[in-house]
Amino acid sequence: MLKVENVSFGYSKTKILKAIDFSVEAGENLAIIGESGSGKSTLLKLIYGEYDLKQGHIFWKDEEILGPKHNLVVGYDFMKYVTQEFDLMPFITVEENIGKYLSRFYPEEKQKRTEELIKVVELEAFAKTKVKLLSGGQKQRVAIARALAKQPEILLLDEPFSHIDNFKKQSLRRSVFKYLKENNIACVVATHDKNDVLGFADQLLVIHQSEIIAKDTPQHIYNHPKLPLIASFFSEFNVIEPYGIVYANQVKIVNQSDLKAVVKTSYFNGNSWLIEAEYNSESIFIEHSSNVNIGKIIFIKVSK
Ligand code: ADP
Ligand code: MG
Repeated sequence: MLKVENVSFGYSKTKILKAIDFSVEAGENLAIIGESGSGKSTLLKLIYGEYDLKQGHIFWKDEEILGPKHNLVVGYDFMKYVTQEFDLMPFITVEENIGKYLSRFYPEEKQKRTEELIKVVELEAFAKTKVKLLSGGQKQRVAIARALAKQPEILLLDEPFSHIDNFKKQSLRRSVFKYLKENNIACVVATHDKNDVLGFADQLLVIHQSEIIAKDTPQHIYNHPKLPLIASFFSEFNVIEPYGIVYANQVKIVNQSDLKAVVKTSYFNGNSWLIEAEYNSESIFIEHSSNVNIGKIIFIKVSK
């Protein structure tokens, strides 16, 4: 189990993180969300042991994670960290990068393991390609495979699919997170993409102004967003009194009600339209099955 106990940290006097406290079981997937600059990457670096802690403790099982003051080489064998920068070797191939840290004494196993990982990150067609010739997204996939090569017990992922185009993203996410579950590898994912979280995370942490402001299952946090900031992570939303925060799909257009609005714009959104309407001299957003003409008077109902 990963235990982060009452960790506070700042690069200078200003605290970036305050009293951070949570734990992650073996095989569990924990997602961390927060605005850019909220300290997500810093938290992953602390877990990895890149900095010395002045306040708080971090443990994996019974072993305390210690910073560079105590360790000549940063990092532990049981933990791998895929940074936002990847750090690959550009002049060797994808399979060489992935196999680099696997034992040369068992060439057949090394080859098998490399192939298995290349499959997990869906890079079969590029196994023999030099890394410098790959796109950003492909490099990101190599970095994930390389991190998995030696079967870590815990994997830290910093915005792991941010460079990968939408055609590939969903299937790659499923493949990587399924692999982690099947192999009982704990995972901490920093992200700003709700799709990295909703279908996969067992727990979700929201960091805001240096602190954890929500810690629960994604379902609970989605259904009970405490702040507009949290709702905005998931979807278009409105603040409509007396209902509070309501997502655009919780506002329905009905034949008649006491809540009257005027349509300002409609945005095509694939399987629905996002209708922007003026209600009580403010904009509200409604998810609707069809387009609605600008200027039309509509009645709405909130169903939470
Ligand atoms: P996030 O990953 O959520 O975008 P970061 O952890 O990268 O946030 O950054 C949190 C804050 O710490 C930011 O204000 C950033 O400018 C600052 N910061 C990050 N790395 C360093 C560093 N090495 N030295 C000083 N300040 C840093
Ligand atoms: Mg970051």
